[in-house]
Amino acid sequence: MALPHTGSYYAATANSYAPFPPLAESIEADVCIVGGGFTGINTALELAERGLKVVVLEANRIGWGASGRNGGQITGSLSGDVAMAREFRRTLGEAADDYIWNLRWRGHAIIRARVAKYAIPCDLKNGHVQAATKPAHVAELRTMHAEAVARGMGADISFVEGEALRALLEVPIYLAGLHNRRNMHVHSLNLVIGEAQAAASLGVRLFEDSEVTRLIPGKRPVVETARGRVSADTVMLAGNAYHRLGRGRMRGVLFPASLGILATAPLDAATARAINPLDVAVYDNRFVLDYHRLTADRRLIFGGGTNYSGRDSADIATELRPALERTYPRLKGIGIDFQWSGKAGIIANRIPHLGRVAPNIFYAEGYSGHGIATSHIVAEIMAQAITGTMAEFDVFDAVKRLRLPMGAALAHQALALGMWYFQLREKLR
Ligand SMILES: Cc1cc2nc3c(=O)[nH]c(=O)nc-3n(C[C@H](O)[C@H](O)[C@H](O)COP(=O)(O)OP(=O)(O)OC[C@H]3O[C@@H](n4cnc5c(N)ncnc54)[C@H](O)[C@@H]3O)c2cc1C
Repeated sequence: MALPHTGSYYAATANSYAPFPPLAESIEADVCIVGGGFTGINTALELAERGLKVVVLEANRIGWGASGRNGGQITGSLSGDVAMAREFRRTLGEAADDYIWNLRWRGHAIIRARVAKYAIPCDLKNGHVQAATKPAHVAELRTMHAEAVARGMGADISFVEGEALRALLEVPIYLAGLHNRRNMHVHSLNLVIGEAQAAASLGVRLFEDSEVTRLIPGKRPVVETARGRVSADTVMLAGNAYHRLGRGRMRGVLFPASLGILATAPLDAATARAINPLDVAVYDNRFVLDYHRLTADRRLIFGGGTNYSGRDSADIATELRPALERTYPRLKGIGIDFQWSGKAGIIANRIPHLGRVAPNIFYAEGYSGHGIATSHIVAEIMAQAITGTMAEFDVFDAVKRLRLPMGAALAHQALALGMWYFQLREKLR
């Protein structure tokens, strides 16, 4: 039985659409995709644009997972860029650095073009600040700025401190920031709903309330739901942190971490102008970061911290309020209208996990909390691979993976310990 959307700001303000029916028959397709988030929907859209017959099966509603509940920030962060550089040099050699730099911005272009092409109403806006709370982080921002300028992005990105920073954000704890005018923010549930409707307009058959309970490999793999089945030339698994099918080759690589997030009551226009006059999205420069932005109806969405236990936090608003009020003292005591959590797929080296469990069964998952732009890039790479152009897919598939061959509870403890180590290292800098 399908679960309704979580009680988020996004669900409360989602564009309405005629729900897609549950699968209740036996059908054929070129490609069957399991999971109706950004990864699954955009791979379907890309494949339909290339002329393939595609089916998408979503257990709950389109965008029910992380795609419909996130911070809405579309940034050039790849999360695992240091490990990526090391790993990708093994396959790409000297070209790896340029490849990674271009990856940073490729998802932005895909999203901008898709929103324009299919006229998707999703409050897409440019403007972002990456903020430093410690002197060591200020130095990191200076290095990032220098690289952006050296790569010809100087017109889109400025290093700001002092008065220039205060003019952007009324946040006393920030020492400096990178103001990036190419990064964007978005109503992410409306984006994925619009993309699903675009896919449907191209002939993709989408089914909600259709959890895949069995995957039968073979020359033509079959997936089964409670009341139907799909047989296809190719199956792609795109269930990310919510994926529970027999994981086989995927086992022990992705860990679901629970991220809490809230939306305040709407701010009056003067308060919104005072704290964030250019309406930029913001995150800080820490390993486990706080992130925030204003919505179209002037609520502050604020997220931060991560629960690596595999369980959701009991009272997110109480946990996040001190950080919110430290960030924006003017909002002390503000009402909180929505609080919710979602599961992000964390990978130990933070490089997205792309691969195959059989020659005709692909998977793509694990953007470690930075997945809006990345999922759109990955969808393009998966569509290329499924239609026979393997070069980019092979770069990701060749990445060495740390596998934790243990049960879920132990793996969560190992992950928590690893994250604690990185946070401690950061505190000591
Ligand atoms: C609280 C939070 C804040 C975040 N903030 C940001 C941000 O600001 N910027 C950013 O870039 N990224 C952010 N992320 C990460 C980003 O949202 C994800 O990386 C991205 O949405 C992953 O998309 P996906 O399609 O791979 O997975 P999901 O969106 O999780 O979709 C997976 C879907 O598969 C379905 N499914 C699973 N198993 C089955 C099955 N057996 N049968 C059928 N369907 C199945 C699920 O129901 C689900 O709808 C955040 C994540 C969270 C949780």
